[in-house]
Amino acid sequence: MVKISIKTGQWEKTMLTPGILSGKPNFPDFIPLTFPNLPDLSELQQSFQEILQTGMITNGSYVKKLENAIKSKLKVRHVLAVNTCTSGLILVLKALKLKGEVIIPSFTFCATLHSLNWNQLTPVFVDIEQKTLNLDPKRVEMAINKKTAAILGLHIYGNPCAVNKLTKIAKKYEIPLIFDAAHALGAKVGNTFIGNFGTAEIFSLSPTKCITSGEGGIIATNNTKLYEKVKVLRNYGDPGDYNCIDVGINARMSEFHAIVGLKSYKRLQGEIRFRQQYNEIMLKVLHKIPGIAFPKIEAKNLCNFKDFTMIIDEKKFGLNRDQLALCLRKDNVDSRFYFFPPQHQQKAYPRLGRSFKNKLPITDKISRKVISLPIYKKMTLYKVKILAMLISSIYKNSHIIKKKLDE
Ligand SMILES: *Cc1c(COP(=O)(O)O)cnc(C)c1O
Repeated sequence: MVKISIKTGQWEKTMLTPGILSGKPNFPDFIPLTFPNLPDLSELQQSFQEILQTGMITNGSYVKKLENAIKSKLKVRHVLAVNTCTSGLILVLKALKLKGEVIIPSFTFCATLHSLNWNQLTPVFVDIEQKTLNLDPKRVEMAINKKTAAILGLHIYGNPCAVNKLTKIAKKYEIPLIFDAAHALGAKVGNTFIGNFGTAEIFSLSPTKCITSGEGGIIATNNTKLYEKVKVLRNYGDPGDYNCIDVGINARMSEFHAIVGLKSYKRLQGEIRFRQQYNEIMLKVLHKIPGIAFPKIEAKNLCNFKDFTMIIDEKKFGLNRDQLALCLRKDNVDSRFYFFPPQHQQKAYPRLGRSFKNKLPITDKISRKVISLPIYKKMTLYKVKILAMLISSIYKNSHIIKKKLDE
């Protein structure tokens, strides 16, 4: 058993008493689920001053600078910055002029599903793999029929999905493959950055992701035709002569956001490195604890750990994930259930819940067991070590805690 000292953060013999038993939280200050890795005001000042003076606060050079920085790093042919990942998804699907059904996971964030609805496309939910929590390619192929217009995959928690298998399937049936890559900026499959797979991949720069522009999205594609179309759709459908060639929206990113995004982007490597170290510490302390499992990351892949999510088996761990969340809250630690309820059970889509009942057994089961912990560089590794120890001690005391909760 690895133990650490609260005082020094060094590994040694120390045991924590969970706050739910002692009445004293192990973290005196609240640890939120996420905290954006933001630049200092001094880093922004010059660029902000410049655009305030020139008046170029939209359609200026900083959006292009951000696009170019991401393009050269990901080694992808085209990059378009948009105001959100959600609008990026909507516009890519619109530009592809799809009709009919689109295969998607239900175990995702609502925006993946909403993007279909905004395009009058019918979702066909396919279950995830138990190990990776990403779309199961075998089930994807089984779900394809004449009406299937596209596959919309996801790299959950920044862990790349089975891109090569899905690419083969999409080629075989000659349908577009799009990835909601909201979580996955900086993630890799082998030596290739996410952003290069399928017809297009769409990242999010909202504040809960690894880096942020305040709000923002990034469309990456190697398809020049698609790029040209989305570029016009991003600007109302207006190619520049006020004679719209399609029904677009204003999905442009402002220069203010691009400046923040550019500075935040410089922090991506450091943020990912921290999250990898976080993962190493958690695995070191928690891998032997019964009833805690982690999504599998393929050896050749790089996960950016947008989220750190555990799968809690109540029988073995002694507490269910809701009870674990309650314990953590007593120690001032925030958590979320990513993703519960899954999309086919959301109130906005009552019909889906009925028609898909019992067809997504892994999604239904896993969504009741997942718990995502705070993960961000500002947290410091010292607190990560204590958090790992705390979870270990909650497990050790699970019988007493359970009794206390049942009272
Ligand atoms: C955050 C998120 C989005 C939405 O991103 P926005 O930039 O907020 O529109 C879409 N899909 C997934 C999986 C997300 O986590």
